[in-house]
Amino acid sequence: MTRKPAPPSRRTRATAAPSHPPGAAVRPAYRLLERRFGPLDAPQRLDPLEELVLTVLSQNTNDTNRDRAYAALTARFPMWDEVAGADVADVADAIRVGGLANTKAPRIQAILRAIEEEHGSLDLGFLDRMSDDDARAYLLALPGVGPKTAACVLAFSLLRPVIPVDTHVGRAAERLGWVPPGANDVVAHRVLEEVVPADIRVSMHVGLIRLGRAVCKAGRPRCEECPLQDLCPTALKVLSGAWDREKKKSG
Ligand code: SF4
Repeated sequence: MTRKPAPPSRRTRATAAPSHPPGAAVRPAYRLLERRFGPLDAPQRLDPLEELVLTVLSQNTNDTNRDRAYAALTARFPMWDEVAGADVADVADAIRVGGLANTKAPRIQAILRAIEEEHGSLDLGFLDRMSDDDARAYLLALPGVGPKTAACVLAFSLLRPVIPVDTHVGRAAERLGWVPPGANDVVAHRVLEEVVPADIRVSMHVGLIRLGRAVCKAGRPRCEECPLQDLCPTALKVLSGAWDREKKKSG
């Protein structure tokens, strides 16, 4: 039986369009993000299974509600095998505060049951001994685990050089021209890992999240106050007024 530790308290000038390929802008962009947002440290390291469950709970909610849901889950079911064997409605009740409980509860149980069935215990410590590619492939084969969830476990728990692409990272990276418009999760992860050097991938994730939350917001981006405006093709459109005119016409 695997005992779960206490819930984590992790609570993470318009000029011209750049003429260089996206990769050339990445390190300068990283330095500007660091200057603006301070040290871009990764979240506190968690055990891989904790990180996996926490990431499932983070889907479509904010960090506060994710942490509340995790705390409620671990308070109600102190052991992972208790979560796996519980009535799904009870698991859903426990994580209700995190939203989408009726989706997340069976997903978490399916993941736990698959791990237990394959390894005989609820412990993902063996991932530490696997290559990046093998560990990613294992995680992606678990039910309901997609590229972002796998990347979070790899980056934050196993300290591998990957860049999880959440909604903020994806939006900012697309506007910066680092990933193609409309790229799906698989493509966005692959392309960003090609563009962002290994040593700054995890920190770049943190920096782009901070940028996406504070400046490169959904809707109209605040390019006027963005530290990356000289490196970003979208800034010219926004700062020239073309973005607003387009939106007005279409809306
Ligand atoms: S310049 Fe504008 S579009 Fe580009 S990253 Fe900054 S806020 Fe986003």
